[in-house]
Amino acid sequence: MDGLADSINARFRALPPLQRLLEAPEAEILAGRHSRPRLVAVLRETLAHARAGVAAGIPVPDAPALLRRAAEGLEREGTAVLRRVVNATGIALHTNLGRAPLAPEAMQAAAAAAGSCNLEYDLETGARGARLAGVEPLLRTLTGAPAAVAVNNGAAALLLALAAHAGGGEVVVSRGELVEIGGGFRIPEVIAQCGARLVEVGTTNKTRVADYAAAVTPATRAILKVHTSNFRTIGFTAAASVADLAPLARAHGLPLIDDLGSGTLHDLVPFGLPHERTVGESLASGADLVCFSGDKLLGGPQSGLVVGTEAAVDPLRRHPLLRALRLDKLVLAALEATLRLHLDPARAAVQVPALRMLAQTGHELQFRAERLLTALPDGLDAAIERTEARAGGGTLPGEAMPSRAVALRPPGGAEALAARLRAGIPAVVGRLSHGCLLLDMLAVSDADLPDLAAAVRRALPE
Ligand SMILES: *Cc1c(COP(=O)(O)O)cnc(C)c1O
Repeated sequence: MDGLADSINARFRALPPLQRLLEAPEAEILAGRHSRPRLVAVLRETLAHARAGVAAGIPVPDAPALLRRAAEGLEREGTAVLRRVVNATGIALHTNLGRAPLAPEAMQAAAAAAGSCNLEYDLETGARGARLAGVEPLLRTLTGAPAAVAVNNGAAALLLALAAHAGGGEVVVSRGELVEIGGGFRIPEVIAQCGARLVEVGTTNKTRVADYAAAVTPATRAILKVHTSNFRTIGFTAAASVADLAPLARAHGLPLIDDLGSGTLHDLVPFGLPHERTVGESLASGADLVCFSGDKLLGGPQSGLVVGTEAAVDPLRRHPLLRALRLDKLVLAALEATLRLHLDPARAAVQVPALRMLAQTGHELQFRAERLLTALPDGLDAAIERTEARAGGGTLPGEAMPSRAVALRPPGGAEALAARLRAGIPAVVGRLSHGCLLLDMLAVSDADLPDLAAAVRRALPE
């Protein structure tokens, strides 16, 4: 036992002391580049780590190895945690990768507003202005709604709508629509947070207007419909539509709230996709309020939009929660620019990346995959494959989109390459499948291609 302790102590003593490391010429250079206090702190950490390794039986590192590790540590410290990623996952609106990539117009607008801007200032009169003066009229034009508000995200939009209309009362919802959206956003819990009581009607697969009608009492404050964004019920099913429910809501003077989730402004059929109820259609069918996200199919920054009748929107504007959920200037600028692009649907299909990704033809995807393949080193085992990509972000559930990927079988294994690509700047995130690393072209833009090819070349084993 003592013999073992002695030998570990001897190996600890073989570790170079901090002072000696600091006297090395490499340390001089590192101190000049990163500051001496940072170097000392990182060297202390490096030594503590090395001691733990030595105690676990790992050979004692020498001074140059320790200084190399410290240099890497300082480099990592200098790299921002939140950084650019090339999305080669084949999921267009990847929630973990920032959902919708913004249009260049939206990025420029956010950058222009980043200093001082007329966020709540009327430049014509010199008096205080309205924060939503830019986006509200655009939302009205684009959806046909008489009134609109914008908050932090789709969840906040629904929270505000329910708090303003149903706090202290009951909300009637179909059992088939008590969904969890992801990130722990569950409809029953949101209703509870608003101080409202959930009244479930119907069954998981079938709910009729009569079920809603039977549940309406003097305590009812709203009827809620929720888009089942991330799953599909098929087979023996029935649901009451907004148009079916509108007469019931009207007869009882109740607001009919439609949580559309992704909420497309345009018909998706010309994109080769199945028909999705648009925001305008929901309003025209009789919804009093429609809630939807700004960073799903709209393709803007994270935000939540509520449009509807003046009478239904007004309580939201005056609710104290609005102050806590309000949008900041960067988001408002990017949102306004994105909404402007949507004014011309043909232009939006080309210039809003979320829509452009969905509108791509197999030909375009194949061409991009070929361009990437050509830019990769000869001798690398790489081939183009047909893949099934997805819209993601709780949009178009069950809808597979034919795409193309460059499938790599690198010498050191696909997993090791995937890890090195994730660690790069920019980071690249692909998808592992059948022993290959797939770089799916669906969410890769033409502008990403040179960076993507360079990242793969850097990440390949020597
Ligand atoms: C995505 C979604 C939400 C939440 O929107 P966020 O913008 O992610 O907060 C709410 N309801 C439905 C039906 C959704 O699909």
